[in-house]
Amino acid sequence: MTDPIRKVLIVGGGSAGWMAAAYLSRALSETVAIELVESEAVGTVGVGEATIPPIREFNRMAGIDEVEFVRATDATFKVGIEFENWGVPGDRYLHAFGHVGQELDAMVRLHHWWLLGKQAGRQEYPQWQELFLGRAAADLDRFAIDQRPGSELSRLLPHAYHFDSLSYGQYLRKVAESRGVKRTEGKVVAIHRASETGEVTGVGLDGGATLEADFFIDCSGFRSLVLGEAMEVPFDDWSHWLPADRALVVQTENVGDTISPMTRAIAHSVGWQWRIPLRSRTGNGHVFSSAFSSEEEATERLLATVSGDLRGDPRLIRFRTGRRQEAWAGNVVGIGLAAGFLEPLESTSIHLVQASLERLVELFPTKAIDPVLRDRFNAQTQQEWEQVRDFVIAHYAVTQRDDSEFWRHCRTMELPDTLSTILELWRSHGSVAIDGGHLFQLGSWTSLLLGQNLEPARPHPATARAQPQPIADRIAHIASSLRKSAEGLPDHGQFLARMAGT
Ligand code: FAD
Repeated sequence: MTDPIRKVLIVGGGSAGWMAAAYLSRALSETVAIELVESEAVGTVGVGEATIPPIREFNRMAGIDEVEFVRATDATFKVGIEFENWGVPGDRYLHAFGHVGQELDAMVRLHHWWLLGKQAGRQEYPQWQELFLGRAAADLDRFAIDQRPGSELSRLLPHAYHFDSLSYGQYLRKVAESRGVKRTEGKVVAIHRASETGEVTGVGLDGGATLEADFFIDCSGFRSLVLGEAMEVPFDDWSHWLPADRALVVQTENVGDTISPMTRAIAHSVGWQWRIPLRSRTGNGHVFSSAFSSEEEATERLLATVSGDLRGDPRLIRFRTGRRQEAWAGNVVGIGLAAGFLEPLESTSIHLVQASLERLVELFPTKAIDPVLRDRFNAQTQQEWEQVRDFVIAHYAVTQRDDSEFWRHCRTMELPDTLSTILELWRSHGSVAIDGGHLFQLGSWTSLLLGQNLEPARPHPATARAQPQPIADRIAHIASSLRKSAEGLPDHGQFLARMAGT
């Protein structure tokens, strides 16, 4: 009954597969043999360049050195995502990763005081985003890291990365192979299952070989070869909330000498476009919905907005938004695109890979799988995906745009109850009251909601004890101190060049 798992087979070698190999080889390698099968002929999706700060913890746990990693993956640093044209065309706000510069009160959060201060009607009252150091750092292209644990800079300016996804996969492959992970080149053409239990026993390769294992991790991408096709786990389609189903991607040459430390997410009349700065090039992609736009129109929108010479023609990627109802079925766990897809508006897919791996190590089974482990894994995964989904939907739902069918659909569509509750709380009381395990905490929600012009009816009742004018002065002081702090930081490009030795 308690026989340990002796061998894990990872099917697929995109970012998800090699992240799994690097991570599990660190966590389990003494006891479990790990093999990864991938097919060069099938290839990887080849996108996925923007991340969020928890990836640093993943890299640390996987035993990855930051300097080596930055060098190997053409990486730049990222302090947040700038959203342009989301509330109304012409708007721009940063979803910064860090905490607000300073709380004014130990219990009533700063956005309430910011709302109260606004009532003073002061000229040049700071926008909410100016109370985050990331805003000024991104405006000035500044960046630095303070490695001391708990330092003020790492609290106010935590960072993630932009990187080349293929290089990231290759880098992780090297790490994993150096720890004994075996890589097999081959195309999987059959999945073998035990007739009594339904569990997967092995995969058959083109050419006749069979790879056997006790436990399987499906990282085969959108096809979901093992979890979706063989185990027949149904797909929950979320396209009625997130109608985008295509992306056109193209790389461009960098323009100018500066490197911005942020992702840009620029809304269009249909969908939106990312701009991701790497050291040697820029990644661009236009996410759109085929129900509201032709591919030709999308190409025109993309090419009208990219800057820098194109590296090749735009490439079309089709996708379906949603997730497999169970990420773990039988002795198979799906990770990455094989488990589901949410558009990259908040750069969350690679994070969801990481979270699944952490959870899998925590709940790692023996050969006879205790269903309690699987049920817990599935419940937590579902909650996490739905929370991220709601945050992404909120960008579309909280808009004043009325300039296209697409935006009229988004602003009037029915929302998941979980999101409606958050928005109602916010509108009436300026609270979102989300639970502590939510990937997006108060700073993220206030950035989105205030950045897209949804102000609550009134600030917290406890602010009634204060006068707006002195509060407005203190708020303005926080913003100007942050600006000064950012001016004291090094230039992001120079910081990178020093670190990467280029
Ligand atoms: P893939 O990269 O598709 O890898 C699948 C692997 O399975 C490949 O190695 C393939 O060869 C193998 N395979 C498939 N079939 C077979 C077979 N029959 N036999 C053998 N091997 C097989 N995420 C972010 O975090 N940030 C972003 O900015 C971001 N942007 C994105 C933009 C777009 C347009 C898309 C579509 C995704 C984006 N993502 C982003 C998601 C991110 O790209 C993926 O989550 C991540 O790359 C993991 O992909 P994967 O490894 O699951 O799949």
